[in-house]
Amino acid sequence: MLSPVSRQQLEQHLGAPLPQDPQLVLVTDLDGTLLGGSLAWRRRFYAWLAKERQRVLHVFCTGRDLQSVARVLASDASHGLAAPHLVIGDVGCTVACGVSLALVPPAMEPIEALWAGKSELLSQLLVDVPGLSPQPISVDRRLAFSYDPDSFDSALIARIEAHGVDCLISDERYFDVLPSGVNKGSTLLALLDWLQLDRQRVVTAGDTLNDLAMFETGLAGVMVGNAEPALQLRLPDLPHTYLARAQGCEGIVEGLIHFGFGYLLGDMQAEL
Ligand SMILES: [Mg+2]
Repeated sequence: MLSPVSRQQLEQHLGAPLPQDPQLVLVTDLDGTLLGGSLAWRRRFYAWLAKERQRVLHVFCTGRDLQSVARVLASDASHGLAAPHLVIGDVGCTVACGVSLALVPPAMEPIEALWAGKSELLSQLLVDVPGLSPQPISVDRRLAFSYDPDSFDSALIARIEAHGVDCLISDERYFDVLPSGVNKGSTLLALLDWLQLDRQRVVTAGDTLNDLAMFETGLAGVMVGNAEPALQLRLPDLPHTYLARAQGCEGIVEGLIHFGFGYLLGDMQAEL
């Protein structure tokens, strides 16, 4: 589906260099995951990420758009949250430099191609649908709605998907319409290939159904303890995913130890 892009081509669009030989590629969802858990654990984990920038290549993988990611970085800087190296935003439809938040066009061209014409077509189809209200965010390469399960007719999903798109319901309140086959997992795998990163060094973490595609890649995955029940139900089908007992950042740390990355964690390991 995605055309080959070289690491060099991607790096030309980045405002800061990537670590040359990262020991860990940590791919975190934001809400409920990197932004989840106690404030004490968040501060501890963010300080560790900031200190380990050369050994840990950090990727945000979120449903938020870039403006919303910028707001998180601004508001949580006071807790020590540093910019990641890369951002996968809009549930896999956007790829950007973590530091500058500048788009990485070569990574998005294949996604743009799949989305061409869909927005106009589907915006009309999805006007005034009971249970769906458009979210006030930028909607490049996807459509984003707030979702009410009680008033939405789920038979509509097949009719929408017949137009060559995927519908994704997450956290029982978000409804995304995405280019067919594009999700957090597909964009992550493409990025890992382009950057020639060793899949054995990758750990993903998430908490809602829009993270399922990351867990289905077969990469090591951490489902944090506060994951939504519908996601936890999928655990038996996800042999490389670990369900943490702890929530948010503490759960990520627990998962990193489970997958053998405890040696990178220093003092944090003893705190758990
Ligand atoms: Mg989340």
